[in-house]
Amino acid sequence: MVDFDLTKTQKQIISAAHEFGKEVIHPAEVELDRIADPVKVFESDLFWNVLSRAFELGFSKMALPEDVGGMGLDPLTTGMVWEEIARWGPGFATSLMPGSIVPQLIIFLAPDNKELVNRFVIPYCEDNTGRHITAWCSSEPEIGSDGKNYYDLKVHHHTSAVKKNGRYEISGTKSDFPSNGGIAKSYIVFACIDPSLGIKGSGTFVVPGDAVGLKRGEPLDKIGLRVLNQTAVFFDKVEIPENYMIFPCGDEYPTLHNAIVTVGNLAVGYVAVGVMRAAYENALEYAKKRVQWGKPIFEHQLIAKKLFNCYQAIESARALLWKGSWLSMKQFPGDLKTSIAAKIYATEQAVWHTAEMIEILGAYGLSKDYPVEKYSRDAKLLKIMDGTNETLLVKAAALL
Ligand SMILES: Cc1cc2nc3c(=O)[nH]c(=O)nc-3n(C[C@H](O)[C@H](O)[C@H](O)COP(=O)(O)OP(=O)(O)OC[C@H]3O[C@@H](n4cnc5c(N)ncnc54)[C@H](O)[C@@H]3O)c2cc1C
Repeated sequence: MVDFDLTKTQKQIISAAHEFGKEVIHPAEVELDRIADPVKVFESDLFWNVLSRAFELGFSKMALPEDVGGMGLDPLTTGMVWEEIARWGPGFATSLMPGSIVPQLIIFLAPDNKELVNRFVIPYCEDNTGRHITAWCSSEPEIGSDGKNYYDLKVHHHTSAVKKNGRYEISGTKSDFPSNGGIAKSYIVFACIDPSLGIKGSGTFVVPGDAVGLKRGEPLDKIGLRVLNQTAVFFDKVEIPENYMIFPCGDEYPTLHNAIVTVGNLAVGYVAVGVMRAAYENALEYAKKRVQWGKPIFEHQLIAKKLFNCYQAIESARALLWKGSWLSMKQFPGDLKTSIAAKIYATEQAVWHTAEMIEILGAYGLSKDYPVEKYSRDAKLLKIMDGTNETLLVKAAALL
């Protein structure tokens, strides 16, 4: 049954996200985006105040079950909220989205491991400071898209996990992109146990951020999503208990990763819709006020066409994302091909249309006096986040 009506709960939570986004996230994100030195962004009270408010309001734990202190929201409602938060602050949206990866994966893969639940899940859900945000680490200097290359057995993570006296010792460098890498309280780390299995030789580990031998790098200075902290993470003989491995190496590795992509790609797609909406709403308002050649530029047909094309892209990208979320509600984690199609479509439309919205503002669109140029910079990263669109396309096309 297809139904586009929102439930009362959905309306309430989207309205809360709208108010928080407009009043708190947006002004902070615009200010933080202008800080030239990324180190200063993540040292600032402003960044942490917004994050702590997001944790207080529960946007950090929407998909976590209620019995551990989460909000227990379904994938569709969660997606709608990501769109709304991203409308006001794509950087904060992309920090919060992967920020719950440690508790999420523990609940998904090791719900009966009481030690992990008590140490990492419950305190995360109780946190109202933002300091329990988490991160995942796959990328390495030599492993980018190769993180999905299960076919060449010479390719494996160089970060290793060696079993010694009932513990795992993790060594290596995850660089440079882990989201929240420099601020996370705990990490999911994919580390190679058996290089002869290639990428499938990696296990999935939970690593506390205060483990001896773990160091964080400097935040990446990048074109967009400047409020998303991305750093290298270094592991120098970091020891963790044996039962902190929540998924073993072997043939099931792609199944886990495809599940992560199925969920993660939808979230990135929702952010792309939020970013497009932000640029569109700004450009529409401007076009109705700016007068050139004797009338508001909105009345020039070529400007109206740009706006209509953007509106059309927002509506169609969102409809495909809703279908992906609906599939995920029918049978978790959903359908990989649909999630990838939705992510590629939404992010590519976002890159194109945010640039088009700059054109509507003319030279003002290039200035930081208007937020539109920021949305264009932010959109660019979404095509690469959670897998490049090229490699995702290759993966999904093989399923046709
Ligand atoms: C905003 C953002 C957040 C991120 N967060 C995380 C995170 O939390 N944790 C983490 O571990 N990583 C994270 N990443 C890293 C991300 O997963 C990688 O950037 C991505 O996997 C691509 O790797 P790469 O950048 O090294 O590019 P490369 O793999 O070197 O690719 C370079 C180019 O070659 C193309 N290419 C590569 N292989 C193929 C192929 N087989 N067919 C066609 N084209 C190909 C790619 O599409 C790309 O255009 C993040 C990245 C971004 C932008």
